[in-house]
Amino acid sequence: MAMQYPQPAMERPGRRGTNLPRVAGYNQVLVLDLIRRSPGTSRSELVQRTGLTPQTLSNICQRLVTAGLIRESGRVRSGMGAPRIVYEVVPTGRYSIGLHIDPASLSLVLLDLTGDDVHALTVPTPQAPGPEHVLELVDEQVRALLEEAAVPHEEVAGLGVATPGPLDVEHGSVVGPPLLPGWGTVELREEIARRQRLPVVVEKDSTAAAIGEIWRTPRDAENLAFLYLGSGVSAGIVLDGQPLRGAGNAAGRLSHLGNIGHLTADPDGPPCECGGRGCVAVSSLPSRIVGTAVEQGALEKGTELDDARSVEAALSRLAERSEHRGDPVARKILEDAARGFARVGMQLANLLDLDSIVFGGPQWPAFEAACLRIAPSLVNEHYVAKNDHAVDVRGTAIGGHVGAVGAASLAMAETMFDAPGQLYLG
Ligand SMILES: [Zn+2]
Repeated sequence: MAMQYPQPAMERPGRRGTNLPRVAGYNQVLVLDLIRRSPGTSRSELVQRTGLTPQTLSNICQRLVTAGLIRESGRVRSGMGAPRIVYEVVPTGRYSIGLHIDPASLSLVLLDLTGDDVHALTVPTPQAPGPEHVLELVDEQVRALLEEAAVPHEEVAGLGVATPGPLDVEHGSVVGPPLLPGWGTVELREEIARRQRLPVVVEKDSTAAAIGEIWRTPRDAENLAFLYLGSGVSAGIVLDGQPLRGAGNAAGRLSHLGNIGHLTADPDGPPCECGGRGCVAVSSLPSRIVGTAVEQGALEKGTELDDARSVEAALSRLAERSEHRGDPVARKILEDAARGFARVGMQLANLLDLDSIVFGGPQWPAFEAACLRIAPSLVNEHYVAKNDHAVDVRGTAIGGHVGAVGAASLAMAETMFDAPGQLYLG
């Protein structure tokens, strides 16, 4: 018999809702997130930062204390007034799980309420066509994750899934992801919720990575593009601290946001079916780069270019040759790729007035050295508003789990009070 479990509400209003229960849930997430980011925050500081009335704020803090999510961490006296209560989150107050399905590997993290990784696992993605083997392995890995961390299932608020698109956001389904053979339409949210008995949220991998990056970055609202280098290359975009989801966020449509396949990586590159030249899709996909390396003798033949794991292994051999063995052909191939990624980053920065370009994703380690040598100066050289501000070009601060961390943080925020709203990330 099916067990009862809470259904996540997946509506994602473009702006904050107006009905009171939703606002209440939103405010609680907001206050909790501010305390998480700045432990030792006082109530009066929270009033200032949220614009809520002292009474409302006090009620929210009381509710969060009662729920075991925050606690008083002391009282500080400043000036003449009464000592002010300061708060911190209770790390063990709630947990969330992040799962990142990449065609080459599955990565899982368990986050506590402070946002720290309690435990993480990575396993190769089963190569058998269709989703069944992947879903079975996810069951096994979620069990292992909780067992190894000694966290009971009932303390987990929810599970977030980062997945390659296209996504049907309304149904939490992936629809024929090109790099996951035999998947067709898979109702991931429903299927994983049923198997795990948890509320589940599904997000595009690149957007999840962008969310993970700002969840962990102790800065104010950022405007960033996360250039996600996986089996494909895509961009997750955050403006004013809010992830962009695009027209595909509407009911009945597929989300294609972050498809940068037809931005120009190399103006002198090969022609593309879109009519352009040197698009990311024909110049900068990891499998294309490996193909070029094989043609030019920087890698031995035998890599299966349509096999994500084989491409990943080949890229790390290419990076080894470039960075540790001084192979000039390997080095040029990776630096050309880095110039392509920089050019894409520059187009996004010019279009969206970004302050940061962040690189990451499963294939990032192979490109890291070349990209960090080339992209920061190249992006800034061609950035149109360089006299106003520079663009910070960097690698992810989180590393290989960034997509899973973003998915877990989303699950935490959207399922914590069973009243999801726009995740406040500023
Ligand atoms: Zn094109």
